[in-house]
Amino acid sequence: MSKKSGFISEDEYLRLSRDLNNMEYEVKRSEALTNILQLLESEQPFERVVADILKIVGEFLQVSNVSLYKWDEKGENIVSILEWIPDSGVPLLSLVSNEFRTEYIKKCMESGITEYVADISERNSVLEELGIKALLVVPVNVNGKSSMYIGIADTDPDRRWRENTIQFCFDVAKIIQNILLKRIDKNSLISSYTALKEILDNVGSGLFVIDKDTKKILFANNTMKLMANDDMEGKFCNSFGYCGMKHNCEKCDVLDKACIAFETYATENHSWYDIKFNEISWVDGRKVSLCNIQNITEKKKIEKRIEFQANNDFLTGLYNRMSCENDMEKYIALAEENDEHGYVMFLDLDNFKHINDGLGHQYGDMLLKMISLGLQQIKGIENSCYRMGGDEFVIIVVPSEKKRLPEILKEIKYLFNKPWDLNGTEYYCTMSMGIVSYPDDGHDVNELIKKADIAMYSAKKAGKNRIEYYNNKEESSSIKRLDLEKNMRRAIAIGGNEFEVYIQPIVDTYSEECIGGEALIRWNCAKLGFITPNDFIPLAEHLGLIIFIGELFLRRVCSILKKWSDMGINKKIHINLSIVQLVQNNIVEVIKEVIKDTGVNPANIVLEVTESLAINDINHMKRVIREIKELGIEIALDDFGTGYSSLNYIKQMDFDIIKVDKIFIDDIVSDDYAQTFVKLITELSDKLNVKVCIEGVETREQFDTLRDIRVSMIQGYLFGKPIPYRDYERKFLGIEKYDEFKEGKV
Ligand code: C2E
Ligand code: CA
Ligand code: CA
Repeated sequence: MSKKSGFISEDEYLRLSRDLNNMEYEVKRSEALTNILQLLESEQPFERVVADILKIVGEFLQVSNVSLYKWDEKGENIVSILEWIPDSGVPLLSLVSNEFRTEYIKKCMESGITEYVADISERNSVLEELGIKALLVVPVNVNGKSSMYIGIADTDPDRRWRENTIQFCFDVAKIIQNILLKRIDKNSLISSYTALKEILDNVGSGLFVIDKDTKKILFANNTMKLMANDDMEGKFCNSFGYCGMKHNCEKCDVLDKACIAFETYATENHSWYDIKFNEISWVDGRKVSLCNIQNITEKKKIEKRIEFQANNDFLTGLYNRMSCENDMEKYIALAEENDEHGYVMFLDLDNFKHINDGLGHQYGDMLLKMISLGLQQIKGIENSCYRMGGDEFVIIVVPSEKKRLPEILKEIKYLFNKPWDLNGTEYYCTMSMGIVSYPDDGHDVNELIKKADIAMYSAKKAGKNRIEYYNNKEESSSIKRLDLEKNMRRAIAIGGNEFEVYIQPIVDTYSEECIGGEALIRWNCAKLGFITPNDFIPLAEHLGLIIFIGELFLRRVCSILKKWSDMGINKKIHINLSIVQLVQNNIVEVIKEVIKDTGVNPANIVLEVTESLAINDINHMKRVIREIKELGIEIALDDFGTGYSSLNYIKQMDFDIIKVDKIFIDDIVSDDYAQTFVKLITELSDKLNVKVCIEGVETREQFDTLRDIRVSMIQGYLFGKPIPYRDYERKFLGIEKYDEFKEGKV
């Protein structure tokens, strides 16, 4: 049936009305699309924008439902995120289970069929149940993957999906996709900016970003804001003084450079800063200057401290060995260049070890500090005193001060001639010094120090407390010193068998009978040959090795004494105890142990000790001597007359025997003073109940003189030189062979 209208045919009319319909549709479609496109620039949240889009789509298509789905986080199910329904409508697509939706959409996408119309497609029970007669699913692709889907559903059984409707839906999907992409970009921008801010805020140094064109601060991290005490952001970079510095943009050209770094000191807050400018692309792509400011004041302080520590001795504050070597090198070069001369002095404290061991390290340290201070106050060397380590110092006299050498030496001597006050008690500490001249004696640091050390050592050998100049002859003896040290350590390491016991007889002045003897050490070195004690004991003391050697020797002698007493022979044998051994804290324990281990009768032992300036703690020494004596051992004061001995000292220390040094005996026959001295000592000793033993008696005349003075004991070549103990046994004790004796043959 066709309708008739005045001038156009029914067909014509139908076609026209269809065209009009189409046009109307097209107008509406483009209207809808324009509306949707406008949403592209919307600042609204994504969901809001898409909800608007779905509404426009739904109203335009006049469908029952438009929904947006997306894959869930795990990528397992497609879930509904937005649903548009007309005012009078009811939820539809959101009611579909996730499983069904996922299954259904997956199948659609695989087959490429996005539309469903109930009467032409296979009926779908789930959709039927919801009353959905037609459904269109359009994917929203992001980065080549369908990440979202638009679902358009209608309950109208007549609904057919026209081609331009489908096209429209695809266009909408593209717009959503676009919005999505923009948002992702913006989001990532925002999130990357947020992340960046967070990162930058956590950086310890101050950071800020300046827009190179506007010279405005785009960003400043928290550290920077605190440093500048200003919020900074949005301000011109010259509107505040960062890190306490006044900043002047006109004069500042850092922004013109891509990258610049410098260190600067801010007087305002007495701080050092390390400043770096770097051109970077900011998050939005513009070129900016990133400034990194670090407060390096602490670092600078540490650097200074390290430099000071590297060049100075931590204890005394004097320059150290390293500075000494550096300075000396410069002085030598300068002296050579200007044809000038200077001096290097090597100073080593005498018996410092005793003070350290005897009093404790804190007193040793105190003394070193006082000496250092004293040296630094001597005019001409204030700035050229160095502590080389331990108790060794080097002093450089530069050419300009060369003429003052005598005064400098006088002042150094004066410094060491007076006692040091250590915690209220006065202590003496002398020094030995070696002097070399540069560049005459050497052109390099090591050579000069070595030669000065050689000279110093010869000062020690000559009796300490003196100054020696270097001369070539000493070199050979010093090479021996190194050899000696090496071999001494070796000799100890292999058990000490190279050290031998020699005994020199001690004779009763009246009966002229051998009443005992003095055990004297000899070193029969496998490498260096036979060495007398004067050649190695001072070094052994210097190196502290005497502690081992001394104990070893004590044990050996005690074993011999035990052997003799087992044979019924009881002779008093004197054993030398070095001052270094004596000041050891455990000396009494060591002696006790030796007595116990060897089984020796202590009554047969006499320990010879020397006085020393180092023994300042008289009370402590008195205690040690008393404790040794309590073991039943006698104590002899050795080398009386050579040191600083005072009679008062003898009284205080309760010695059993005083051994008068050979120097008094050499001239005793002719020298009245020597005679008077020995006489005095003898008379006094009688009163103090102390025996006197005179050493170094070589002639009959000497002996006679001494007998007249009523000296009780004599020791000297006249009655016998030190001989191997076996010979002593044979010669003075009548022992032939111990083994034979044991077997009853002797
Ligand atoms: P000292 O304790 O004063 O020993 C006496 C030194 O004088 C010995 O020298 C001895 O041989 C020497 N002598 C004795 N009578 C005469 C004489 O009539 N004329 C001459 N010209 N000399 C005589 P020695 O054995 O060479 O010892 C030298 C120093 O070495 C000793 O002096 C002592 O200080 C030290 N010494 C020796 N053995 C030991 C030891 O076992 N331990 C320690 N710590 N020092 C020792
Ligand atoms: Ca002696
Ligand atoms: Ca002696």
